[in-house]
Amino acid sequence: MAVDVHPVSPEDALQRLKDGNARFLRGESHFPTVQTAVIEDLAQGQQPYATILGCSDSRVPPELVFDAHLGELFIVRVAGNVLGPSVYGTLQYAGAHLKTPLFVVMGHEGCGAVQAALAWHFDGHRAKSRIELLLENIVPAIDAIDPNLPEDELMRAAVDANVRHTLQVLLTTPEARANHATSGIRLVGAIYDIKTGRVRFLE
Ligand SMILES: [Zn+2]
Repeated sequence: MAVDVHPVSPEDALQRLKDGNARFLRGESHFPTVQTAVIEDLAQGQQPYATILGCSDSRVPPELVFDAHLGELFIVRVAGNVLGPSVYGTLQYAGAHLKTPLFVVMGHEGCGAVQAALAWHFDGHRAKSRIELLLENIVPAIDAIDPNLPEDELMRAAVDANVRHTLQVLLTTPEARANHATSGIRLVGAIYDIKTGRVRFLE
């Protein structure tokens, strides 16, 4: 369904994600099953309150880590949570038609795509051709990182830099500027810790 202004504010959307992750961490997730009535209701249209660009990694499903229901999150998942033509198109749809008040770019610790980009960029480890096309999106983000950092620190810095780089690129799109000026849509970064299940928002 197309809406002029989403009924949920960006701040409330962010709070819902934080509350959902807290329930997930406490083992109190709300999502045991889905009622037929809910499915039928959602068949009329969707009005998700957040759009999330995340990684394809099987350990980082946004609906689960934010304890979100059907119809609540509009999600793009691609290895390394990178941008690309299809991703831009999907995000633009979320902004222009769904008007989700909050956009989240979510990376995660231990990301294989980020690790592969580091190995390629700093150590010359080649990957398969289409994988390298994907890694090309990560390289500009990690270029300024000191490759001599201890391994753990290097990965953490690269994951963080990859999210911040994507945010930066998104913020400079004409759509983001216009949306920010007119409707107050918020764009935030987040990093999921695969060891604890906790999502840290970069505010
Ligand atoms: Zn990943």
